[in-house]
Amino acid sequence: MKITRIETIRASAHPRLLWVQVHTDTRLVGLGETYYVPGAVAAVIHDVAAPLLLGEDPLDIERHWATFFAVTNYYGYAGAEMRALSALDIALWDIKGQACGQPIYGLLGGRVRERIRVYNTCASYGPVHGWAAAAGIPASARGHDAAAAGTAGGHRDYRDYEASHERPGELARDLLAMGISAMKIWPFDRFARASGGQYISPEELNAGLAVVQQIREAVGDRMEIAIELHAKWNLPSAIRIAHALEPYHILWFEDAMTPDPVDDLARLVQETRVPICVSERLFTRYAFRQVLERRAAHIVMPDIIWTGGISEGKKIAAMAEAYHLPIAPHDCTGPVNVFACAHLCASCPNAMIMETVRAFYLGYYEEVVTPSIDVRDGHLHFPDAPGLGIRLRPAFLARPDVHVQSTT
Ligand SMILES: [Mg+2]
Repeated sequence: MKITRIETIRASAHPRLLWVQVHTDTRLVGLGETYYVPGAVAAVIHDVAAPLLLGEDPLDIERHWATFFAVTNYYGYAGAEMRALSALDIALWDIKGQACGQPIYGLLGGRVRERIRVYNTCASYGPVHGWAAAAGIPASARGHDAAAAGTAGGHRDYRDYEASHERPGELARDLLAMGISAMKIWPFDRFARASGGQYISPEELNAGLAVVQQIREAVGDRMEIAIELHAKWNLPSAIRIAHALEPYHILWFEDAMTPDPVDDLARLVQETRVPICVSERLFTRYAFRQVLERRAAHIVMPDIIWTGGISEGKKIAAMAEAYHLPIAPHDCTGPVNVFACAHLCASCPNAMIMETVRAFYLGYYEEVVTPSIDVRDGHLHFPDAPGLGIRLRPAFLARPDVHVQSTT
């Protein structure tokens, strides 16, 4: 089998997303995805990766990973280069699965579980996704209009970000009614701006804690709460927030600081009893090696479409397992990532829980891909089709705001 064409696909309505399709002489097509800086990633794919891959056998995934990493590591690999490699790696696994008639997890050792528990990241489509209005896309060109009240594209428009601040108890009850028993929120972010993350006052601390208290008052311990901090704080502020959260038995405390240098995360682990989660921001097994060796995390959170794809995700998971640590793959991006994470969680014994965003999978995913993910009773049920089990919809590819760049 030979790779004959590589396409990158962008949509003005989704300005942070990039999809890649790898075509072969057998007519099998592999799908991959990444998120952030899509123009830069597309340039890396067409300028650097395509000359390495065209004419090559797509089934030699490990060889292609190593070759691309060696080439880009010559000038520093993290960023658009690893995003490109991640997307391509997933596309090659998709081809391999289709060629073998197996879902990807079948090629990663098979299933270790029937389904994986999910948590809901309390994002809404607009603020997190940076779409539409910023891109100047008229509502008529979008299938999913976040500005429409109540519904969008025939789906309910979940505004979980706003709800997590304005009515967190009600939001927790609503998630529980869907069978979802864990949620991720970021109630302290809004206080980081004034000081640039250098200080949080007792009043601000209490205002952030009030969100957690309202959830506990509404539903008790039936809802688990992960606190995301988006690396907005310095070490003493991170310690102060973590100490304040200790009585609430939170699921984890995520990315309070940037993960470099790792030694400061290790100090945070020593200073608090809350479980520390690290980090979607880390690229490759080499960065996670430092986290593991310095005992800087309790929960390991690789992002599969940034850190090096399914190949690298499997290795990072095995490294974490050797330290008796779970993985919880990062999401809040695109639909292909969720499928890639599903194959990883199906096959990794130490997968703990998977991130999902109902505002996305019950919203725009269904316009872009088929099928969407299968979440029932708070669990994701794994796809069983060969390969990834997900395709871009032909109707999406035909939209006027969708642009395809091709290298042959
Ligand atoms: Mg995060």
